[in-house]
Amino acid sequence: MKRPLPVIEIDPLAGFCSGVNRAIGNAGKHLSGGERLKCLGELVHNEEELDRLRSLGMDFISQEDISPDLRKVFIRAHGEPPVTYNKLKALKLEIVDATCPVVSRLQQKVGNSSREFKRMGEGQVVIFGKPGHPEVIGLMGNTSGNAVVVQQSGDFGKIAFGGPLHLFAQTTANQDDYRDFCEAIKQRTIEAGGDIALVTVTNSICGQVSRRAPSLLGFARSHDVIVFVSGRESSNGKYLAGLSRTVNANTYTVSSPGEIQDWFGNAGSIGISGATSTPRWLLEQVADKIMEITGNL
Ligand code: SF4
Repeated sequence: MKRPLPVIEIDPLAGFCSGVNRAIGNAGKHLSGGERLKCLGELVHNEEELDRLRSLGMDFISQEDISPDLRKVFIRAHGEPPVTYNKLKALKLEIVDATCPVVSRLQQKVGNSSREFKRMGEGQVVIFGKPGHPEVIGLMGNTSGNAVVVQQSGDFGKIAFGGPLHLFAQTTANQDDYRDFCEAIKQRTIEAGGDIALVTVTNSICGQVSRRAPSLLGFARSHDVIVFVSGRESSNGKYLAGLSRTVNANTYTVSSPGEIQDWFGNAGSIGISGATSTPRWLLEQVADKIMEITGNL
């Protein structure tokens, strides 16, 4: 017996965030001249999109590859610390700066807070984020030796409780985790005999990331099966796919259409979603593959 044709829907909020879209649009302008463009680090955590960009003429390089021969260097949406700009300028390389404006503003705020604490002679900037993440490296680079990166309560030993603290989050951090983190810091401040009025909290999580969670929960609930498309290295992808699974056990993560199996049985509706680093074109390819499997094509 033929199975009923399911409804297949792509999550309207899935696809690149504005910062990544802007960076890719910017790269496109420089790639149209036929010259290869060197991007410092991977532009997105998505292998399929990186392959597409490579085919257009983009190369992904590391700090060690910076040399006077490069001529032009592209800075991705995550941003870079001032030391990188200084190095590129010293080598007289042209900089194509695609740092997301949200990240640039955060770099400025973190830098201002750090300078103010330095002027006061006390205080610490605390960044809730992943040590070694490119955005966090950029943020730390704007501080003056009075900042720490903290990912979990096990790292609290780095924090000078009792004195002034200014808390910031990496833009892609989880909103609930950051709220819990800030509460735990306030609690520890009280235990240390400090004044929580000296703990300043800046909610620096990007709205495009924090809005995805509630909308994805609604989307995942309204479909029988969810196919979540994400690069394996994307922390945002791991988080969102896990969230989808909390309300829809039939959530399957793939990085490309070739990984899709027939998970659909008699599903009446299939939803396709993805991380902030998943391109729209890949979601559409996944939709085509599901149509092929379910006999919709
Ligand atoms: S997630 Fe937000 S802050 Fe990060 S690149 Fe995208 S728009 Fe910018």
